[in-house]
Amino acid sequence: MTVDLQKIKKKLANNNYKMTSQRKAILEKIIENQGSHLSAEEIYEQVKKDDSNIGLATIYRTLELLCDLGIIHKLNFDDKCRRYELDKEDEHHHHLICFECGEITEFNDDILEDFEEDIKEEHSFEVIDHRIKFYGYCQVCQ
Ligand SMILES: [Zn+2]
Ligand SMILES: [Zn+2]
Ligand SMILES: [Zn+2]
Repeated sequence: MTVDLQKIKKKLANNNYKMTSQRKAILEKIIENQGSHLSAEEIYEQVKKDDSNIGLATIYRTLELLCDLGIIHKLNFDDKCRRYELDKEDEHHHHLICFECGEITEFNDDILEDFEEDIKEEHSFEVIDHRIKFYGYCQVCQ
């Protein structure tokens, strides 16, 4: 966890941004809740517990900045709110979303990485990223 924050601090510095206490608090909540895909409002609720002065606008602004710098990315699971997760270069996953209960399961996809190569060969298009969501019913809801 400390490793992640150090790396992020460097990335902010490289772009002339400081790791302010509010940015740090927001990042800590995202890191602590990895795999939970928190929304801006949920991050706000968490950060507010430690810092009652923080406003939702600050959360939105910070999340935008972190997205712009590629530190986190936005997820849209069609549940009316944007969710966020860390963008980790060495770890790549996608999501299975349950129609019934909204549960989100993460999975890895080595086959799709090969598929990017095929696309390059067939379409001369260099793929640098892909986001995939599968919708259906989880084990409990089937
Ligand atoms: Zn995820
Ligand atoms: Zn379900
Ligand atoms: Zn993938």
